[in-house]
Amino acid sequence: MIDIHCHILNQLDDGAKSMEQSILMAQQAVDNGFTDIIATPHYLKNSFNTPGSSVIEATQKLSNVLQQLQIPLNIHTGQEIAITDNIAINISLGENLSLAKSKYVLVELPRHDFPIYSEEILFQLLLDGFIPIIAHPERNQRIMDDPNLIKNVINRGSLTQITWGSLNGFFGKKSRKTSEYLLKNNLVHFIATDAHNINKRSFDIVAAKKHLKNIISPEQQMYLQNNNRLLLQNKPIIQTEFKTLYSNRFFSFFKTKV
Ligand code: FE
Repeated sequence: MIDIHCHILNQLDDGAKSMEQSILMAQQAVDNGFTDIIATPHYLKNSFNTPGSSVIEATQKLSNVLQQLQIPLNIHTGQEIAITDNIAINISLGENLSLAKSKYVLVELPRHDFPIYSEEILFQLLLDGFIPIIAHPERNQRIMDDPNLIKNVINRGSLTQITWGSLNGFFGKKSRKTSEYLLKNNLVHFIATDAHNINKRSFDIVAAKKHLKNIISPEQQMYLQNNNRLLLQNKPIIQTEFKTLYSNRFFSFFKTKV
């Protein structure tokens, strides 16, 4: 299995705090069937602004340690980039990194907002030859209130990645319901761990996988799994048609309550 979003590199962000923790996370990833993971430290101005070169260095360092310990896990470089209008330029400068040197870029929205400029920035990234993947839309307040907001950006070519933990309700009932809604309406292209440690936000996806089986068909599960492989090979994924079979009643209920 392949994971496209995790915080296994130590002391670069709020993920692993030491090399020991990175090693424990790597072992847990292997125990859960992962062979390849993309390390995606946060890139956020004035907070976690680790340049691409540091990510490459840390990835190499961890890979060497894992090789010495005979832990069979390939670590690829990446970043989870807070949305700004200069991502494409930053990639050309080496300040930002795409996922595993592909044309796919992991972009994070603010937690509570889906700013008006987001659509423009995502579209510009596409024009610059990249494919934006929106990290965990099911945890964004605006999208939780109205998941159909995401349809516009998907229509124009952006993709989405939800978090395994959201299926368990780790991020709350509303995130869980939103992830189910997005899955059932074909608005999800990747599922990733977003692992930060070996405890609550980990590579242990056993329970979440059981939930997934109850939400979507085996074919759709296979589609999502294959997309990870296509991304790693820098190949295009196929976008499936949106479904409109599921009502949005749950969300209108929430809207009236908040
Ligand atoms: Fe993350």
